[in-house]
This record gives sequence, structure tokens and C-alpha cells, in this order.
Amino acid sequence: MDFTISEEQRLLCETVEKFARKEVAPSLAAREESGEFSREIWQKMAAQGLLGLCIPEAYGGGGCDALTTVLAMEAFSRGSRDLGMTVAWPSHLLLAAMPIVELGSEEQKRKYLPPMAAGQSIGAMALTEPEAGSDATALRSTAQRDGDYYLLNGSKTFISNAPVADLLLVFASVDLSKKAGGLTIFVVERDTPGLTLGPPLKKYEGATSPTGEVFFDDCRVPAANLIGSEGGGFAAMLMSLGWERLAFAPIVGAMEADLADCIDYAKQRVQGGRPIAKHQLVQALLAEMKMDLEASRFLAYHLAWKMDQGEATGLDAAVAKTFITEAYERNSRKAVQVFGGYGCMREYPVGRSLWISKMTTIGGGTSQIQRTIIGRMLASM
Ligand SMILES: Cc1cc2nc3c(=O)[nH]c(=O)nc-3n(C[C@H](O)[C@H](O)[C@H](O)COP(=O)(O)OP(=O)(O)OC[C@H]3O[C@@H](n4cnc5c(N)ncnc54)[C@H](O)[C@@H]3O)c2cc1C
Repeated sequence: MDFTISEEQRLLCETVEKFARKEVAPSLAAREESGEFSREIWQKMAAQGLLGLCIPEAYGGGGCDALTTVLAMEAFSRGSRDLGMTVAWPSHLLLAAMPIVELGSEEQKRKYLPPMAAGQSIGAMALTEPEAGSDATALRSTAQRDGDYYLLNGSKTFISNAPVADLLLVFASVDLSKKAGGLTIFVVERDTPGLTLGPPLKKYEGATSPTGEVFFDDCRVPAANLIGSEGGGFAAMLMSLGWERLAFAPIVGAMEADLADCIDYAKQRVQGGRPIAKHQLVQALLAEMKMDLEASRFLAYHLAWKMDQGEATGLDAAVAKTFITEAYERNSRKAVQVFGGYGCMREYPVGRSLWISKMTTIGGGTSQIQRTIIGRMLASM
């Protein structure tokens, strides 16, 4: 195992972090307040090569491996503190584009990937439904063949990027009686007749990444837009989960930024005649945050490294996702504690992590479901 950062990777991280500090961070508070998804920032991210980072070069991307992608996402998150954008970007790149890279036909890749890498087409992945969350096989959206088309009916909810998406990777069933065996993936373009994208849902935090509902009413999707094979959606979902799990890599950058803020604040804030950083119980909070940060970083790099070797398993992905998101949740509570009352004020960014970290333990498979997966795999070894 070798996590040595190459000179090229170091330079990329430096450039990405600098870009995030200069172009993304300054407008964050205002965008959070207004709940705005910034197309201007999206375009700047595209110009930096971020939106197509791990899309192969042949389709307009950067051709980066998984570890480099993780490093860049971590650097972006550390520099920008834009927790919404660090959901929007992986949702586009890892959840929508990478399944097309891995499962799409040559024609589909040539059609969809270059505009995604260039920032002209925003991607989303639509699996969850109002009645089918943890149990994705219970989904009710159907796809009925009609000549050269499929007619999609049903609805989706909690879909990251949906309100602004140009292209959605949609899971629907060609045969509900087959449960998982009926699941099929389609690319549905924004202007497809019968598709309605709802307005952004109101979340507690992370408003710079719009999350919304999607409705299909005899939505007429060309048969050419089917990704993979009829009924192959469930297997595809399991296969692309490795990339989805990397969507949690930016968390490492967010945890690092929160800890740095806590250390600075603890050195400055004087109580009981000395900086609170001199109080051992405050030091204990910082020490615990550091341990969780480094363990999370290791797990994120380890998963990415294994993916690059073609060795990552569902177990690795579930362990990394669960530990990193829960460590973030623990750290965000401690960060607010270090700041005391100021931690509860929007003036200081650490409080934002409280809600975002909670959401990360739910989105992409809840902590309970991950434990079920890990436990089941261990028991069957
Ligand atoms: C901010 C955000 C962004 C999201 N983005 C997307 C997206 O881009 N695309 C997408 O498709 N989905 C997305 N989701 C949806 C997300 O994947 C689901 O919310 C998640 O899978 C849980 O489903 P649910 O909300 O219906 O909860 P439920 O499945 O109803 O779960 C409720 C509770 O019951 C527990 N539970 C359920 N089943 C079991 C079980 N078998 N054993 C033990 N405990 C169980 C859960 O752990 C949880 O605590 C997003 C969600 C959020 C919050």
C-alpha cells in the first residue's frame, strides 16, 4: 500500500485549494443565506477541470484515478467550506457520470460525457422514492416499452441536483413483480416530455446544493437511453457503489477545516485567565477530533487506492462510508462545543457541519443499512 502523494497530485491539490479559497469561499455565506446554486461557480469549476476529473480523457475528462479524485475533493472542501457544492459536485461526477463511464455504450459516452465534463450539462442520480428509501427494491416507478421508447411513470424524492439537472440517471422497473430483477437505468434529459423537476426542497443546511423531487407522467424516453441492460439496474447499482462511496471524500477536508478553526479559536479565546486551549478538557476535544480526522483520511485514501488496484469490495466501501460520516458527525458536535455560544452563531462556519454531517449519515445508505451490509458480509465469510 502506497499513499505517497506525487508532485503532480500535490500541485493539483494546491491549485484546487487556492481556487476554492479565492473563487468559492468568499460568496459562501451569501449563497447559503439565499439558497442559491451558483452556475457561475459551476462554470469556473468546469474550467478548472473539476467537473470531469475522473471521466476518461477520450470523453473530455481529466482521466484521474480514484485517489487523485479524493485528494482534489478533499482540497476543494477544505478551501471552500462549501458543503453544498461538495454534495453537488460528486452527485454530478460520481453518481451520474461515472455509471455512464462504466456501463454506457460508446455512443452514450460520446453524447453525454463531454458536456458533463465541460459544465454544460449538470447530472443527477434518481433512485430514492417517497416509499422506497433504504429498500430501493421497493421502488414503484415503472418503465413500459412503447416501440422505440419507454414510458416512465412515478416519482422520486431527495434527489441532489434535480432542480438544476440537465440529465438524470433514473432507476425504474420494467417489471415490478421481479423486484430487484426489474430495475433498469435510463438517462432522462431535462426537456423530455412528461418529466417535471420540482423546486428545491427546504433543508436545514447545504442550500448551495439543490435537492428536489422528480415526476414522470408518461415520460417518453428513447430506448437508446437505456444504460446497460433491461433488469440490469440493481447489479449496476452495486457495481458503481464504490464511486458513490468516494462522494464522501470531501468530508475529510471539511473536518480538517473545522479542526483548524477550533485550534485557532481555542488559542485566542481566554477564559479563567488563560486561553481555553490550555484547559485539558478542551485539549481532549481537539485530540479526539484529530484522531477521527486522521482515521477518516486513511479510510478514504485506502478505499480509493483499492479502487485503483481493482480490489475494492462492498465491505471496504461500507466501512469507509459509515466511519467517515459518523466521525464527521462526532467532530461537528465537538467543534461547536469548542466555540461555545459562538458555535451556535452563523458568523462562525463550524455550526454548519452539524446538519450536513447528519445528512451524510443518511444519504447514500443510512448508517443502519451500512451496518447491516457489513454484518451480513462478515457473517457470510
Ligand atoms: C441531502 C440528501 C441528498 C440525497 N441525495 C440523493 C440522490 O442524489 N439520489 C437518490 O436517489 N437519493 C438521495 N437521497 C436519499 C437517501 O439515499 C435516502 O434518504 C436514504 O437512502 C434513506 O432513505 P429514507 O430517507 O427513505 O429513510 P428510510 O429508509 O425510511 O429509513 C428511516 C430509518 O429507518 C432505518 N431503516 C430502514 N430500513 C432498515 C433496515 N432494514 N434495518 C435497519 N434500519 C432500517 C433507517 O436507517 C433510518 O434510520 C438523499 C438524501 C438526503 C437527505
